[in-house]
Amino acid sequence: MRFKQDFFEQLDGFYSQAYPQGISNPHWLGWSDAAAKLIGLDKPNHELLMQLSANAAAPGASYYAQVYSGHQFGGYTPRLGDGRSIILGEAIGPDGAWDVALKGGGPTPYSRHGDGRAVMRSAVREFLVSEALAALSVPTTRALAVIGSDLPVWRESQETAAITVRLAKSHIRFGHFEYFCYSEKGAPDKLTQLLNFTITQHFPHLTTDAAGYKQWFVEVVQLTAKMIAHWQAVGFAHGVMNTDNMSIVGDTFDFGPFAFLDTFKESFICNHSDHDGRYAFGQQPGIGLWNLKRLAQALPPIIASDDLIAALNTYQPSLVNHYVSLMREKLGLSTDSDLDNAEQEKQDLAFISQFTVMLENNQLDYTNSLRKIGTIDISSQHSLLRDDMLDVHQFDSWFQAYQSRVGQVSDVAAWQHERNQHNPKYILRNYLAQEAIIDIEEKADNSKLLQLQQLLTRPFDEQPEMNDFAKRPPQWGQGLVMSCSS
Ligand code: AMP
Ligand code: MG
Ligand code: MG
Repeated sequence: MRFKQDFFEQLDGFYSQAYPQGISNPHWLGWSDAAAKLIGLDKPNHELLMQLSANAAAPGASYYAQVYSGHQFGGYTPRLGDGRSIILGEAIGPDGAWDVALKGGGPTPYSRHGDGRAVMRSAVREFLVSEALAALSVPTTRALAVIGSDLPVWRESQETAAITVRLAKSHIRFGHFEYFCYSEKGAPDKLTQLLNFTITQHFPHLTTDAAGYKQWFVEVVQLTAKMIAHWQAVGFAHGVMNTDNMSIVGDTFDFGPFAFLDTFKESFICNHSDHDGRYAFGQQPGIGLWNLKRLAQALPPIIASDDLIAALNTYQPSLVNHYVSLMREKLGLSTDSDLDNAEQEKQDLAFISQFTVMLENNQLDYTNSLRKIGTIDISSQHSLLRDDMLDVHQFDSWFQAYQSRVGQVSDVAAWQHERNQHNPKYILRNYLAQEAIIDIEEKADNSKLLQLQQLLTRPFDEQPEMNDFAKRPPQWGQGLVMSCSS
């Protein structure tokens, strides 16, 4: 790893020095070749294992924890900061730099009462989902590796510690801006310094003046809208959309009790602590806007309120636009029609919503139902999807509208193949992650983790020998709800 230290060198006062503490008996549980490539690494080796398990210093690393705050479940916490994630610096890769962070690397000045550690089950989940989302083209932070240990940690019971090596284009969160707005009242210098850094590093096409600031917020709004459109289209529930978990570059960030939908359900809640369903699957688009408003509230010292409001007003149309275009690819709704774009989009959104309502009414699996689109011959009334419906009348009337919207398909095989490139066969179902974790916990066997990781790097490919991994969860694995105690 070759580091630069821009954040560390340019943003004094925005972090605390924090040295990670090694975990005992470190061993690779997982390694991502794709993530490694991003920072110019090839295969894992012993030296890297020692460095990334914090048992040896990484040459050129600075080791620091960033300070930020955030709205958690609607309430403001004035100071959070990296309580268990220690950043080494920005590793230089062939196409840009990536922050390298040891999540679970030990206590920092922001750990409060926490131990600075991550338990194996949570580290493995973050590793798997980061790389799985990337393979689905969902904007996300990445995971280079997950390292197991025999260091005991206490949650509800004794577990073992692990480290996820996270790669992020940026670790700057909405909460960074909130912190420097509210904690350094009346002194916009730090906020300006943070914004200039953010723009220079991550929005280099913009200028660091009033015009650039204004456009920057527009782009943050749109990147966030795009990320959430991806979540809704792929059926991903984040679970903890606090503003400290919202990345300023619009990457899915800070994984806890996330889940992919099995059965489609708007009101699906994956987080055990989310009693009111604040972060339920169907709430995510609205919460994205709520979070952007909290970010906007921290910016008036440097961006005019009218400009912030104008940018916020682009959120909903932008999200709908991205969502509809992703769903069109899944359903095969081409758009060279005579209708004007806005009208077509409105009609398509209504049509897509009829589809998801139908899945919900029939309690169908979201991923598997969409995958069956790739078996449909649009000229035929019969289909595998129809066979799944309890209410065939509802389906038939929807299908009639579908047929007329899709129109003539000259090459059915090509049309079906194209659908399969947009509807994954394999997703990281909670029960699959759970099985991999249990094998590690009970047998020190990570082969299922490796198998799952391999599978999910090619989620759109048939991989017929892996069919079992595409199945709906068994009874025990349905509607698994994860706790935050990670
Ligand atoms: P999260 O729910 O992971 O987004 O974490 C919220 C806040 O709690 C962040 O400031 C974390 O750094 C901190 N935190 C979570 N777990 C721990 C832990 N085991 N030790 C110290 N801080 C933690
Ligand atoms: Mg967090
Ligand atoms: Mg966290």
